[in-house]
Amino acid sequence: MKALVYRGPGKKQLEDMPKPTLRDATDAVVRVTKTTICGTDLHILKGDVATVTSGRILGHEGIGVIEEVGVAVSRFKKGDRVVISCITACAKCDYCRRGMPSHCEQGGWILGNTIDGTQAEFVRIPFADTSFHLIPENADEDAMVMLSDILPTGYECGVLNGAVKPGDTVAIVGAGPVGLSALLTTQFFAAAKIIVIDLDDNRLAVAKQFGATAVINSTDGKAVETILAMTAGQGVDVAIEAVGVGATFDICQEIVGAGGHIANVGVHGQSVTLQLEKLWSRNITLTTRLVDAVTTPLLLKTVMAGKLRPAQLITHHFSLEEILNAYDTFGNAGREHALKVILNNE
Ligand SMILES: [Zn+2]
Ligand SMILES: [Zn+2]
Repeated sequence: MKALVYRGPGKKQLEDMPKPTLRDATDAVVRVTKTTICGTDLHILKGDVATVTSGRILGHEGIGVIEEVGVAVSRFKKGDRVVISCITACAKCDYCRRGMPSHCEQGGWILGNTIDGTQAEFVRIPFADTSFHLIPENADEDAMVMLSDILPTGYECGVLNGAVKPGDTVAIVGAGPVGLSALLTTQFFAAAKIIVIDLDDNRLAVAKQFGATAVINSTDGKAVETILAMTAGQGVDVAIEAVGVGATFDICQEIVGAGGHIANVGVHGQSVTLQLEKLWSRNITLTTRLVDAVTTPLLLKTVMAGKLRPAQLITHHFSLEEILNAYDTFGNAGREHALKVILNNE
């Protein structure tokens, strides 16, 4: 089968790989019909994620049709169309039972990391019963791909950890696919103002269409000043960090108001400076989280009800054979006006 294989920092190839087979009784093998590329895959290719070794098939998002299930799989069968969660959950370990499958002892984020992932014609998924979501009839399948990772990530790590509530002023720093997912799901809670900050005018225009009440291009270094002026000097109730670098984390620390929340979503490769000398007396809450994907069923229902339209996040379509072109487009997102790309393998 065709698969996108990581061959060390900066190197990836579309290769012929053996088709995966069942290994454990709780496994399923899925024919991947649609997958996508994540910012995390670009981090891996830079060599930032030490757990990913040469020869690994990348990808942790996608949907497909079940080809085969192990004898212990009871909730799914051959032929079922499913969303593959980016988080694999055994449902039995201490972390899973505490509602934190991101740290599952035998699962968590393993796809395209420590086991082969979804950027391939087929993938083996461990703990199939608790790592898939059945796709309803009449679903928009492109939209379903957004449920693997970015929607639960924006919602759980940004909106829920940020404790967004009605009337809040929310700032989202970073208007990539995850920042925009936080923007879409923030609107479940009737925030009064949603300010989106980015360096890219195209992404800010998209944020405006998606419901941002104000957008700020921070290229001039005046985002903090502007936001403080917009909030009568008080700052925001919730600052969602959706980039993963020091500069954007600093913006969050400088705009968070007394009693506010900083919800970190970004994947940080380097340390940041915690401005505790300013924040210690401000009654703020700072949260971090790896997505647990425990809200995927709820998000799936809101998508099916038309309350959440994640297909808006998709800008490009390719076939799986064109995946190297898709990486070029996604890797030059500013130039290409790219958000999420869909790779079809129907
Ligand atoms: Zn992802
Ligand atoms: Zn577990």
